[in-house]
Amino acid sequence: MNYDAIVIGAGMSGLAAGIRLAMFGKKVCVLEKHTIAGGLNSYYQRRIKETKEIAQFDVGLHALTNFATKGERGRPLTKMLKQLRIPYGDLNLCPQSYSVIDFPDKKLRFTNDFEFLRNEVHEKFPHQIDAFNKLVEKVVAFDELDLNAGYMSSREVLGNYLSDALLIEMILAPLLIYGSAWEKDMDFNQFVIMFKSIYLEGFSRPKGGVRTIIDKLISRFKEEGGELKFRHGVEEILTKDGKAIGVRTTKGEELFSSKIFSSAGLPETMELAKKDTSHQVGQMTFLEAICLTKRAPTKEEFEPTIVFYNNSEKYHYEGAKDFFDTRSAVVCCPNNYDPEVKDVHGCFRVTFMANYEKFKALERSAYLEKKEQAYEEALKIVKSISPSVELDVVLKDVFTPTTVERYTWKKRGTVYGSPDKIRNGKTDIDGLYVIGTDQGFLGIVGAILSGISLGNLYGLMES
Ligand SMILES: Cc1cc2nc3c(=O)[nH]c(=O)nc-3n(C[C@H](O)[C@H](O)[C@H](O)COP(=O)(O)OP(=O)(O)OC[C@H]3O[C@@H](n4cnc5c(N)ncnc54)[C@H](O)[C@@H]3O)c2cc1C
Repeated sequence: MNYDAIVIGAGMSGLAAGIRLAMFGKKVCVLEKHTIAGGLNSYYQRRIKETKEIAQFDVGLHALTNFATKGERGRPLTKMLKQLRIPYGDLNLCPQSYSVIDFPDKKLRFTNDFEFLRNEVHEKFPHQIDAFNKLVEKVVAFDELDLNAGYMSSREVLGNYLSDALLIEMILAPLLIYGSAWEKDMDFNQFVIMFKSIYLEGFSRPKGGVRTIIDKLISRFKEEGGELKFRHGVEEILTKDGKAIGVRTTKGEELFSSKIFSSAGLPETMELAKKDTSHQVGQMTFLEAICLTKRAPTKEEFEPTIVFYNNSEKYHYEGAKDFFDTRSAVVCCPNNYDPEVKDVHGCFRVTFMANYEKFKALERSAYLEKKEQAYEEALKIVKSISPSVELDVVLKDVFTPTTVERYTWKKRGTVYGSPDKIRNGKTDIDGLYVIGTDQGFLGIVGAILSGISLGNLYGLMES
């Protein structure tokens, strides 16, 4: 079978690239190894034993970054929806209440109005406000989309503006944990992307969670005539004379195309193409403990949507030395996105940095024990943030780096991909392009924009 383009993976970037290509009359096939779409941002369900209810969970989605109101011009979210021809209202977005960067002696809150954060910095770090304003000016003026930009240390740039080490750590914490493939530091281009998408634009969540986005992407792709095959993993990317010519799937079929867009990850893609790869596999992977409580927390008990918790003045963003690292955590309470929605149950999701190798080495019973331990630690952190919160648990679940690997085929369950990003998406095989996380655009909006822009660039403009 011949196609104008083949896309590997039905995650955010793969589906977005597929829609753009199909929209312009290309014969395009998206191949997905899993039985459902979404990749790192998928969903699953569990039955509550006591009541027999089915509870739906998101795998990734704590927050959709890049919040914009309807019709707001020049915003990534608006551009993304326009390119995919998805009406704004279809996402049913509920903005965040507020989020907190929670360090022992200081807390900074932020909302979808940047002036709120600016006032917080002014109040908590009065001696730094002029410097902070200058940094914001630099971020706003910076072209983070330059596809040829090289690595620049964010800590170095921040150090040129801010003299308070605690403020630097606090600003960096949410940006690192929500999008750095690098340990301890991050590329300044990525810093700017994350600063804009989190602090300047903000968070929201679609009603119905990540499924709302995935279902919409699939239906748009099919409306445009695209072909989507689940349980069709790509086993090999076929090449001839340095050019991509097609793929062989796990079903043994050979599908041909001179344009292949892969969201499988950079080292993973090069391995599929049988090329020696020196690209590093990212160290950053996570464990998440989820607890569903009998009722949603009241405003007095727990009001923020997300808390970036850290127990010291220094934020340790690095692969966990032990199974998981309780020095910091992200606590998300999805109930607090929309106070109008009266969820029956409360939900707390607690994410820790984790260690893939340690979990991989465990026998089943030790693995379950470790998950239980992580769950207990997660509850302690929720309680330490809000001692009055009632944790009457009806269902709990924990997923680890090995779970991430099992369902996404990302090496080591890495979440933010390889530290070696290919900003222009081009590999050294003609016609083989890397989209999504390893192009350097991650998160839901980033990955979708990556699929759109590289689909446009190499699938539409070049042909
Ligand atoms: C725990 C967690 C929390 C997160 N929280 C957020 C959040 O709150 N907000 C946010 O915006 N982002 C969040 N993310 C990150 C976000 O999910 C990702 O950056 C984004 O979804 C990546 O999309 P992608 O298309 O690049 O890759 P992926 O989602 O990894 O898609 C790749 C797809 O390719 C498939 N695949 C792999 N190998 C093959 C093969 N050989 N053949 C066929 N198919 C293959 C995979 O199954 C997968 O479906 C989170 C991620 C995790 C894991």
